[in-house]
Amino acid sequence: MAFDLDMIKKVYSQMGDRINKAKELTGKPLTLAEKILYSHLYEGQPSETYTRGESYVDFAPDRIACQDATAQMALLQFMQAGKAKVAVPTTVHCDHLIQAKVGATEDLQNAINSSNEVFNFLDSVSNKYGIGFWKPGAGIIHQVVLENYAFPGGMMIGTDSHTVNAGGLGMVAVGVGGADAVDVMAGMAWELKFPKLIGVKLTGELSGWASAKDVILKVAGILTVKGGTGAIVEYFGEGAKNLSCTGKGTICNMGAEIGATTSTFGYDESMERYLRATERAEVADLANGIKEHLTGDDEVYANPEQYFDQVIEIDLSTLAPHVNGPFTPDLATPISEMREKAAANDWPTKVEWGLIGSCTNSSYEDMSRAASIVEQAVAHGIKPKAEFGINPGSEQVRYTIERDGIIETFEKMGTKVFTNACGPCIGQWARAGADKQEKNTIVHSFNRNFAKRADGNPNTHAFVTSPEMVAAIAISGDLGFNPITDTLTNDKGEQVKLNPPVGDELPTKGFDVEDPGYQAPAEDGSGVQINVAEDSKRLQLLSGFAPWDGENITGAKLLIKAQGKCTTDHISMAGPWLRFRGHLDNIADNTLIGAVNAFNGETDNVKSQLTGEHGAVPATQRAYKAAGIPTIVVGDQNYGEGSSREHAAMQPRHLGVRAVLVKSFARIHETNLKKQGMLGLTFANEADYDKIQEDDTFDFVDLKDFAPGKPLTIVAKHADGSEDTIKTNHTYNAGQIEWFKAGSALNLIKRQNNG
Ligand code: SF4
Repeated sequence: MAFDLDMIKKVYSQMGDRINKAKELTGKPLTLAEKILYSHLYEGQPSETYTRGESYVDFAPDRIACQDATAQMALLQFMQAGKAKVAVPTTVHCDHLIQAKVGATEDLQNAINSSNEVFNFLDSVSNKYGIGFWKPGAGIIHQVVLENYAFPGGMMIGTDSHTVNAGGLGMVAVGVGGADAVDVMAGMAWELKFPKLIGVKLTGELSGWASAKDVILKVAGILTVKGGTGAIVEYFGEGAKNLSCTGKGTICNMGAEIGATTSTFGYDESMERYLRATERAEVADLANGIKEHLTGDDEVYANPEQYFDQVIEIDLSTLAPHVNGPFTPDLATPISEMREKAAANDWPTKVEWGLIGSCTNSSYEDMSRAASIVEQAVAHGIKPKAEFGINPGSEQVRYTIERDGIIETFEKMGTKVFTNACGPCIGQWARAGADKQEKNTIVHSFNRNFAKRADGNPNTHAFVTSPEMVAAIAISGDLGFNPITDTLTNDKGEQVKLNPPVGDELPTKGFDVEDPGYQAPAEDGSGVQINVAEDSKRLQLLSGFAPWDGENITGAKLLIKAQGKCTTDHISMAGPWLRFRGHLDNIADNTLIGAVNAFNGETDNVKSQLTGEHGAVPATQRAYKAAGIPTIVVGDQNYGEGSSREHAAMQPRHLGVRAVLVKSFARIHETNLKKQGMLGLTFANEADYDKIQEDDTFDFVDLKDFAPGKPLTIVAKHADGSEDTIKTNHTYNAGQIEWFKAGSALNLIKRQNNG
């Protein structure tokens, strides 16, 4: 769907030279991940080597994808950049805001009714700025990207953590915050710490009930939810070649669940088959022409211990079907051990629902393998014990499985076919009775199973498994059901053993679709109007933050001295606030409400120096802003850890906070503060944190001399008339100081465009 062949040709034409240069510089053969990284440097040709896990490197991604929840603030910011078009191919996908309740048609209409304003906004911004727009119902972002845009050896970023799914087609694809995406849309570099490398050698071949999903369920059990942090996981070996392309996507997708930066596979015949089946024969031909650059070097795979930071080996021939959970995706249990483990842990074994879908497992192959189990049950007169729902991954998949009778098979068992969207995977599931909060069990083919994620009920025990195992377990209604050894009872009282699943990797008659739900942007978007209602609760156009006035900040009051952990969730809470992600002023009403006030140990209760009264943080700050009084937030260690959401920096900035002074920062949040024109400072002497008192007023002394590597001095004036001089450090380089002076990085880009 309008994939950019010229861009791919350009990337491929440069890869060989850049990879050879990187080999010369590093003096060693390269993994696939290194080849992609070194051939996507912002500076072009490599000129130095980087240290894994240490060096920060500027990259130039080839593509960007955004989903509807995160795209709102990203695009609102991009509109500020003053560009006529995005600098790299970008798509927006409407998939998160659609609730699963009755069935596809009605649910989609309800979503359009309730979020029309947001969809229309995303549609018109996409149209104006040259962004491909995938309408509500077109499919789940990562399935659509795999079907249309991913290409071997490419690099992409996306404003969603499961962007990593595109590793199934040999990309380095990474989930980022909106601010990073905006930079790249505006033509700037994307910075990433050069990742460590984990190699997973796959041998043998899957058979019976084992599937690609079991590879990552097993890896998650080995590495745990943190084991991949800061690393790219690269799969290789004969076993990798024996997996389908969408199966590889499933494995890479759940790399997010082990914390990996991303995961990837070398180009092989399964990818070629997939590219050709999805009408991208030209891409396959181009990839065949530079095959040797689209996979790791033979020497690397022959001696993986020498070239990867960690190596794991899995024999697919002996891999057993796994069921992971509840409440965490790394609690891996082979199905043969589930009955015993469930009893030992008091997990309910009666299964209430089986759900197939999510970006992890909603391909044609997934649907056809699961349907083969349903078909057997229907043929043998077995009635399902649990309810059953599916979310196809894209309209192309849905249309094709309908044509091929797969939907009809599911429907014979009373399966609900929901919209081609995230649905229950992101809590968009109006599950009847969930509000009673009863202890219960569901099985699904998704990636995450944290408490409350699917239906909001903290007592729902959600287990992650493959689509075919979801089908078998849902039919049996028993979490401990092992289809390899156990039988089911049919309507005649006979015992029936299910045969292992069979399915087609790709549709034998090819994919088909009438309306894929794609809308190409206008050739010339300059005349496209973007309408946001003045009184909208969901969306608000940004007006750009004020530039620095060139003066020292004086008379600043302490807003809050946060104590202990203060993550981006404490600064800008998620949950019910998600609906305001496109409205800066409305979402600012959650600013710092989760931070613990060091003076009373309470959250969202700080003293106002205007009134002497205690009150909510956002209201207190709004009063300072109304009075024209600047403020400072003081924090503890690792301030701003957690997600990369830019709201955590934009909200305090919007409300008038000028500086955040902490013992230490989480790096991404520190960068986000800089991008939004804030002062992110650290105590030169951590013990000075203790000198900050509740009624302090702050004067900057030398802000006019703000320069790289030069500490800034602040005088803290206490209520008793005494003073402390606080030395603060910062990590602003010359360019970032210009962001501060301009009021934000975007203001600077805008000024440069106009200049
Ligand atoms: Fe995220 Fe689930 Fe949607 Fe995938 S299906 S993009 S994991 S919400």
